[in-house]
Amino acid sequence: QAKAHGKNGYVFYKNDMHQDASDEFSLENHLRKALEQNEFELFYQAQINSQTGEIIGVEALLRWNHPELGMILPNIFIPLAEKIGLIVPIGEWVIMEACRQNKMWQESGLPNMKVSVNLSTQQFLKQNLVDVVQHVLQSTQLNPQFLELEITESMAMDYKYARKVIDQLRGLGVAVSIDDFGTGYSSLKNLKCFAINRIKIDKCFVMNVLHNQNDEQIVSAIIAMAHGLGVNVVAEGVENEEQLHYLHSQECYNIQGYYFMKPLPAYEFTDQYPQLVEEFKKKKEIIHEKS
Ligand code: C2E
Ligand code: MG
Ligand code: MG
Ligand code: MG
Repeated sequence: QAKAHGKNGYVFYKNDMHQDASDEFSLENHLRKALEQNEFELFYQAQINSQTGEIIGVEALLRWNHPELGMILPNIFIPLAEKIGLIVPIGEWVIMEACRQNKMWQESGLPNMKVSVNLSTQQFLKQNLVDVVQHVLQSTQLNPQFLELEITESMAMDYKYARKVIDQLRGLGVAVSIDDFGTGYSSLKNLKCFAINRIKIDKCFVMNVLHNQNDEQIVSAIIAMAHGLGVNVVAEGVENEEQLHYLHSQECYNIQGYYFMKPLPAYEFTDQYPQLVEEFKKKKEIIHEKS
């Protein structure tokens, strides 16, 4: 029991503190066993070319199916996994699982698409990252052109190291993108000097694009810069038609967001694939008619 002695000698319990500390502790302990107990699962969200309605890729998004608490989102457990040094093995599982799944989709006749995997800073800084990726590609037999790794701006702060790793990954034939663009610490020099395939505009800008002039300016500037540099650009967090119209007006046609679909477990994505394709085509037509 957590006890604390007050000034006047009374003993009282700091209930809240006690609760928080033990919650985190038990979550931590569970997390240590989650990999071996197969509690992780990847959800997939499509990226759509909104001009053609075609699926160009899927992003793999990690979920933790906690035996008592149910599904836990990455914003909760990834920082914890980073803190206790588990993100590297978890991250390796993610790369392997995403590539395995994509290969399965290809073999079951789905049109080819890229699978995007988020890397954490610790993974990116680990010297064997390139070997890990190479090993995964070899063992899953996924063609490297169907894998994309997402890094964030902050990972590129050690400029020389980042450049070396990105070049080596590109050397394997894998694509590299910058996620959450505009929210991290970065130098625009990086965009020019790194062999980046695309940038993803963070959803915090997209969300307010119609209601906040600053966000609108930021989004249009990012798109214009990407076009100017010949880098692909994707908008994240697109939830409605109005946002999509704005993005189209800036000639950004690669879209990821709830407007098209929420992330789904692999089996649901597979089951629903034909309907999803139909829905995306319909949405594309509606948008074309209105613009
Ligand atoms: P992210 O890489 O920027 O992924 C996009 C997030 O936005 C996902 O949240 C996705 O579900 C959510 N999202 C997509 N469309 C919309 C939309 O229209 N509206 C809103 N409000 N949200 C949308 P999720 O799955 O909770 O993941 C959160 C973050 O956790 C990810 O952000 C990524 O940074 C991290 N993450 C996810 N999976 C992994 C992983 O395997 N490894 C690592 N290191 N990080 C991961
Ligand atoms: Mg991402
Ligand atoms: Mg990310
Ligand atoms: Mg993002």
